[in-house]
Amino acid sequence: MSARVDTSRDVGRGNGHYIGRFAPSPTGPLHAGSLVAALASWLDARAHGGTWLVRIEDVDLPRCVPGADQLILQQLATCGLIPDAPPVYQSQRGALYQNALDQLVASGHAYPCGCTRADIAQANAALGLIKPRHGDLVYPGTCRPDRGGLQGKPARAWRLQVPDAPADLIHWQDRRLGPQSQHMATAVGDFVIKRADGLWAYQLAVVVDDAAQGITDIVRGADLCDNTPRQILLQQWLGLPTPRYLHTPLVLGDNGEKLSKQNGATPLALQAPIDTLETAGVALGLGAIKAGSVPDWLTRALEQWRSRWLSK
Ligand code: GLU
Repeated sequence: MSARVDTSRDVGRGNGHYIGRFAPSPTGPLHAGSLVAALASWLDARAHGGTWLVRIEDVDLPRCVPGADQLILQQLATCGLIPDAPPVYQSQRGALYQNALDQLVASGHAYPCGCTRADIAQANAALGLIKPRHGDLVYPGTCRPDRGGLQGKPARAWRLQVPDAPADLIHWQDRRLGPQSQHMATAVGDFVIKRADGLWAYQLAVVVDDAAQGITDIVRGADLCDNTPRQILLQQWLGLPTPRYLHTPLVLGDNGEKLSKQNGATPLALQAPIDTLETAGVALGLGAIKAGSVPDWLTRALEQWRSRWLSK
C-alpha cells in the first residue's frame, strides 16, 4: 500500500491517436471561465487532428440545473465548438462507477467510512488542524481498516486509502506548468469516492469515464490541477492509462478569485460570439485574434495554438 507511486512516465497519445474532451457540470450556463477550458480542449484536439467529445458531468444531481446541458451545448455550438459524437451523461453510468468501486474494495484500496463532517472536524481539531479557507479538511484516517475500521458505526461514504509514507509523492508532468508533485496523504488524505448521500464522487466518475471514452489528453482549467494526483492514483489502482494533462490559465473575477457562478460570473452573452472567442483567446495567451466569422476565428486560433502547443 505504501509503495512509491511515480507517474513521471509519459503515457497517452502513443501513436498520434488523440481523443480530448470538455466535461462541464450542468450547474448553469457557460461563463467566460468555462469557455476558456472548452475552447482550449477543442483547439488542442483539432490541432492534433484528434477527436473532441463533450461529457455532461451531472453526477452531483442536486447541484444540476434542468436544461443547463442543452444551454451549454447551444453556447458551444454558437462558438463553433461541436463535439464529434453525442455527449454522454454521467447520471446514466452508475454501473461503471460501481464496478470500479467493487474493484477497489476487492484490491483493498477502498474502505467504508462512518465519520460525519463533525467527526472529521473534531479529529482535525484534536490534531491542531483547521479547515483551509478554500480547501477541505484532510481526512485523519479514523475508519482505516488498519485502525479498527468502522468500530460499529454505520458505513456512510467510501474512501480511497492513499499512500502515506513520507516518500509517497505522486509526480506528474503538466504540459503548461511543467513537473508537478503532491504528497496526497498530507494534501488531501483518504478521499471520498462514493459520498454519504449515495452519489458518486467526481474523482471516481471522471477517471472511469476518461478511460471508458479512451481520452488521451485532458485540457481543463488550472483550478482542477490539484485534483490530478488523486485521479492518477485511481487510474493506477484501476489499471487504467494516464492521459496527458494541460491545465489552462484561470479567468479571475474582479475580486481576484477564480471566476465561478459563486462569485458572480454572468452567463456568456453570445450576441457577438467572435468577441467572446477573442476574450477567451486572450486568456489563453493567443493574443487578440480578429476575424470576420466564427469559422475564420477558429482557423486563426488553431494556427496560433499549433505553433504554441503542438510540440508540448
Ligand atoms: N466537471 C468538472 C467541472 O465542471 C470538470 C471535470 C474535468 O474537466 O475533469 O469543474
